[in-house]
Amino acid sequence: MKNLYNTKKAKDLDDLELRVYTSRLLGANSDLVLHGGGNTSVKIGATLYVKGSGWDLATIEKEGFSPVKTIELIKLLDYERLSDSDMVKYQREALVEKDAPNPSIEAILHALIPYKFVDHTHADAIVTISNSNRGEELIKELYSDYLIVPYVMPGFLLSKMVYNMTELIDWDSIKGIILHNHGIFTFSNSAKESYDNMIDAVNVANKFIRESKKKKEHDLSKIKELISKAKGYDVVMRVNQSATAKRFATKEDMALTQKGVLTPEHIIRTKRVPIVFEEDYEKELERYIQDYTEYFERHTTGEEIMLNPAPNWAVLKDFGTVSFGKDEKEAKVIEDINNHTMKAMIDAKRFGGYKSISEQDSFYMEYWELEQMKLKNR
Ligand SMILES: [Zn+2]
Repeated sequence: MKNLYNTKKAKDLDDLELRVYTSRLLGANSDLVLHGGGNTSVKIGATLYVKGSGWDLATIEKEGFSPVKTIELIKLLDYERLSDSDMVKYQREALVEKDAPNPSIEAILHALIPYKFVDHTHADAIVTISNSNRGEELIKELYSDYLIVPYVMPGFLLSKMVYNMTELIDWDSIKGIILHNHGIFTFSNSAKESYDNMIDAVNVANKFIRESKKKKEHDLSKIKELISKAKGYDVVMRVNQSATAKRFATKEDMALTQKGVLTPEHIIRTKRVPIVFEEDYEKELERYIQDYTEYFERHTTGEEIMLNPAPNWAVLKDFGTVSFGKDEKEAKVIEDINNHTMKAMIDAKRFGGYKSISEQDSFYMEYWELEQMKLKNR
C-alpha cells in the first residue's frame, strides 16, 4: 500500500486542514475503509474534532468534524455501563457547536487517546489475519509494538475496555491499537506520523499475506538426479499434485507422512516413511539415509542385509508428492498406495489420529524373507 502523504501539499495547512487532508487519504483507499467506515480526529486545545456521523472520510470537509469538549467525553468513562441512546445524548451535550453532526460512536475512544491526531480504519489486511483461526497468535507475532484488544462491541464497551487496558501503560510504548476482528488505531502528535504508522502497519499485514501466497518452487530434475544416484539407477518419477497430495504437503499435515504404512505389505513398496524435501535436498537425503540406517541397526538380528536406504517416495513441501520407481509401473504402484494411505491418514484424524504398526513390526515385515521374495519374482 502506497503512502500518499505529500509534504508539499500539507505544508501550509493548519491542524484541522491537516486532519481533513490525511482523513481523505485514508478514505480514498477502499482497502482501509469502505463506505463511511473508519473515523479520525484531532485535538485542538481542549476541543476534540472527531468525524461526525454521516460523513465519509473520502470526501470529508472541516464541517464534517464535530467539535466536542474532550474532558466531557473522558468523564463518561466513569460510567460502568452506558446505553447507546445515553451515549449519543451525552456526546451531543458535550458539543461546542450545537448544530454540529453527531460525533462518531468511537468519539470517547478518540478522546481517551492522549495524542493530537488519531486515525482509525478497518484495514482489510489486518482483519483478514485477525479473522483467521490463527489470528490471535499471528497478530501477536506481527504487532508486538501494538496494544492488542480482544473483540468487543464498538462504542462505549470498546472505549471502556481500552480505558481499562491502558490505565497502567505508558502510551509512548505502543505505536497504536489493534482491535481484533475490527480494525486498527494509530496516533501521534503529528498528522503525518499517525498516517505513516497506519500505512506501515497495514503493510506489515499485506507483506505477510503476500508471502504466504508465494508458491513453493521445487527443482524436480535435481531430485531425480539425487535419488537416481542414491539408488544406483535412473529412477522414473511420478509427480502427484492432487488436492490430497497438496494438502499432505502443507505444514499442518506434513507430520502425518512420518507415521507409517496403512497395511504391512505396503512396506516393501513404499518403505516405512517417505522423505520430506523442503529446502536443502542433499542434506535432507543424507539425513533420511542416516535415519534409515539407524532404523536398520536398531532392529536387525544380524541375519539381514540392509536394503538400499534411499526413499521410494517424497513429500515436497507446499507442492505435492513424488514416487520413484525402476520403471513407470513401479512408480505407479507406489503412487497408488500413497493415494490410499494419505486419504486414510487424513480421515483417521476424525478418530483421534492415524496410528500404524510399530517400528519393530514394520522392520519384521520389511525384512521378512517371504516379502523380499515377492519383489525378486516380480
Ligand atoms: Zn471501527
